[in-house]
Amino acid sequence: MDINPQILKVENLKKFYPIKKAFEKPALVQALRGLSFTLSKGETLAIVGESGCGKSTLAKVLLQLEEITEGRAEIFDRDLTSLNRQELSNFVQMVFQDPSSSLNRRKKVFDLIAEPLVIQKSCSNEDLRKRVLAAAQSCGVPVEFLERYPHMMSGGQRQRVGIARALVTEPQILILDEPVSALDVSVQAQVLNLLLDLRRDRKLSYLFISHDLSVVQLIAHRVAVLYLGKIVEIGSKQDIFENPMHPYTQLLLQSAPKVFSPSTTPASQFSELPSPLNPPPGCGFAGRCPFVMDICRRLDPELKEQNRRRVACHLVEKSI
Ligand code: SF4
Repeated sequence: MDINPQILKVENLKKFYPIKKAFEKPALVQALRGLSFTLSKGETLAIVGESGCGKSTLAKVLLQLEEITEGRAEIFDRDLTSLNRQELSNFVQMVFQDPSSSLNRRKKVFDLIAEPLVIQKSCSNEDLRKRVLAAAQSCGVPVEFLERYPHMMSGGQRQRVGIARALVTEPQILILDEPVSALDVSVQAQVLNLLLDLRRDRKLSYLFISHDLSVVQLIAHRVAVLYLGKIVEIGSKQDIFENPMHPYTQLLLQSAPKVFSPSTTPASQFSELPSPLNPPPGCGFAGRCPFVMDICRRLDPELKEQNRRRVACHLVEKSI
């Protein structure tokens, strides 16, 4: 793809949640432990990993639903924390996993799509109507559906409404949190095709959060693999899928159905994710890694440039 401007820059982003229990020392849940990445115009960066790895926390922090503990994020060269809600909603919007629960069932589709504009109080009634109709049309929501309630529609149609609602403020970035995982497989393909068309037509950038690697393979340009609040490998989709270097990426690919991986790591090693509450020193994957060495338990590996991608692993560092 062409070299396009970077519109989102995330640098050493951390999000910790303090936990206080009676008669115990205060502890920290380290949900994000220093993420750095960029997103370019028209690009889709997939964020993959198991539940609890920090994917959804990242979305919340970028939408200012949670405060950053440390580090920074810039959107169009502006510090995220300097943007008010209205400015942010003009740049970034979110599409949620389950349209059945994310859409207010007491509101008609027109009002659901219009809501982000109504909150902004920035356009006339006539303009509002035009923009709602345009957003609905671009997402394949028929005009007659605008007077219906969400429960009168199928799951796929509801997700189209969710996407239209996200696009009505004309943002440049969509954060898509498992946007097709609640849908039937046949409907998934239609919604993914819609997202691909919208990306092409509007030059949108997607931060595509997913645990479904077959979906990621269809839509992503680049992939960031998140483990215990850190990126352990980030690179082009081709490099990550065809030649995963981090042992966790290898395991993730091997465990995914329908995704080819040359990994030889046994899937039986895929035990539970350690707790982000006071994670151990050294590599967060050491307790599960079949290739663990002494150094791994002492020293957390840095994310370093290796073979056209960045990887955080002592083994990879030694072998290059
Ligand atoms: Fe495994 Fe060590 Fe690499 Fe961590 S740093 S993934 S424990 S080899």
